[in-house]
Amino acid sequence: MSNVLTLSGVTKAYNAGQTNEVNVLRGCDLTLDAGEVVALVAPSGSGKSTLLHIAGLLDTADAGTVEIAGETMTGLSDRRRTISRRQDVGFVYQFHHLLPEFSALENIALPQLANGVPTKAAEERAMHLLDTVGVADRASHRPAALSGGEQQRVAFCRALANEPKVLLADEPTGNLDPATSDKVFETLMTLVRSTGLSALIATHNLDLAARMDRVLRMQDGVLTPE
Ligand code: ADP
Ligand code: MG
Repeated sequence: MSNVLTLSGVTKAYNAGQTNEVNVLRGCDLTLDAGEVVALVAPSGSGKSTLLHIAGLLDTADAGTVEIAGETMTGLSDRRRTISRRQDVGFVYQFHHLLPEFSALENIALPQLANGVPTKAAEERAMHLLDTVGVADRASHRPAALSGGEQQRVAFCRALANEPKVLLADEPTGNLDPATSDKVFETLMTLVRSTGLSALIATHNLDLAARMDRVLRMQDGVLTPE
């Protein structure tokens, strides 16, 4: 099975049938191969987040299908979708979205506990991941005590905690200053490459996009190769 993520004819409109209807996605097709890292480039408001949320099972399409590792996700029950989302998808947001009352280590252990991993094993894996991204010495810190770059590194670890099949990242360094953004992006790429994970990464930054395997542009609600 080499197709890790397949979207076919995905459409999405907001405020359907009303005067302020917005047809954001008008038929998006996408195939992500095993180990492939693809950039999703488009101006603000083009529908990048909408597409990533649908691909990551955080939202549903109006029409079209989403397959992850050959399994159709369209039409699954909420319960089944939640399980797939937890097991198959790693999601990184522009803002870290870490739980403020938990430490960095706990933020990475918690999704594993939700998947039935024993506490000790979950904490060991969390520590290992933190070490990989160079913030092991911040393991006991809460998110508010971390820099923006450190918060995103922890968010990457959390996204990878359950060994997902695909990583989706929505402008993961968009909130950082350019120098930090560059370093944090490099960390993300190293992490993705070392795990052989497939990733779809939305970015405004054309320099970052050029460092991925391939670039897709979104225009007028459809995806086109660069
Ligand atoms: P991007 O991530 O590329 O900036 P989005 O997917 O966030 O784009 O948004 C695409 C379009 O859909 C925008 O015009 C936005 O205003 C609209 N939109 C996004 N979410 C909603 C929503 N929940 N309700 C209504 N319109 C929305
Ligand atoms: Mg967005």
